[in-house]
Amino acid sequence: MAKVFCVANQKGGVGKTTTAVNLAAGLAKIGQRVLLVDLDPQGNATMGAGVDKRTLNPTVYEVLLEGRSVAEAAVFSEKCGFHVLGANRELSGAEVELVNAPERTKRLEKALQPADADFDFVLIDCPPSLSMLTLNGLCAAHGVIVPMQCEYFALEGVADLVNTIQQVQANMNPQLQIIGLLRVMFDPRTTLQQQVSEQLHAHFGDKMFDTVIPRNVRLAEAPSYGLPGVIFDPSAKGSKAFIAFAQEMVERVQRV
Ligand code: ADP
Ligand code: MG
Repeated sequence: MAKVFCVANQKGGVGKTTTAVNLAAGLAKIGQRVLLVDLDPQGNATMGAGVDKRTLNPTVYEVLLEGRSVAEAAVFSEKCGFHVLGANRELSGAEVELVNAPERTKRLEKALQPADADFDFVLIDCPPSLSMLTLNGLCAAHGVIVPMQCEYFALEGVADLVNTIQQVQANMNPQLQIIGLLRVMFDPRTTLQQQVSEQLHAHFGDKMFDTVIPRNVRLAEAPSYGLPGVIFDPSAKGSKAFIAFAQEMVERVQRV
């Protein structure tokens, strides 16, 4: 049975896509069968996994709105070692079209059911908003991975997200839980980041992942080669951290 996780944070540019793509590659490297679902019309996760969003058809849009199956739409990225259910600009129309669709928040969950036995992990890269698309992700998931930067307003932003996740859990998806908060783009030399990191620990305790992802330029360069950092430069600090994170996820999943 596949474990389904959303990578979510309503803020943009916090490292969601980088986390989704590199965790997918890290899990694949340690032998897990992975499906990466891109729910962001920007299609960055799709491109970052070596799949050309411009020529892709069908995409996750046709799966959500036109009844195409995951098996038909997902492509295997040879370079990355995992399957990708990709997205492109077409998906931005889904936001409006889903509003009038039957079971509008449950469509991804329904679509993933027949693919359940084919994967160990399904990772969903969410757009930076609490939209119909994100709700589809949250309704399909067992848990949420929250990447965050240790900045001054971090706690406030996370409090909003925790609130939203609790509401979804209470009203739409009882199994949903926060799997953990992942500190990304971390610079241990910055006193402020260390302080915020300590505050987060005091507040969230074991909901903090042990692994911390450092700020590392190789992770930022990799997408322009259509590769996850983990594959583009496995020896980079950031790549090693994502491999460690993949291992931590496998261990956590065995516990929940
Ligand atoms: P989001 O999906 O939340 O919008 P991205 O994953 O696209 O965020 O990251 C935003 C930017 O930060 C991108 O340019 C990405 O390459 C860069 N980035 C993400 N994580 C790191 C990191 N650990 N070190 C350096 N740059 C990073
Ligand atoms: Mg993104």
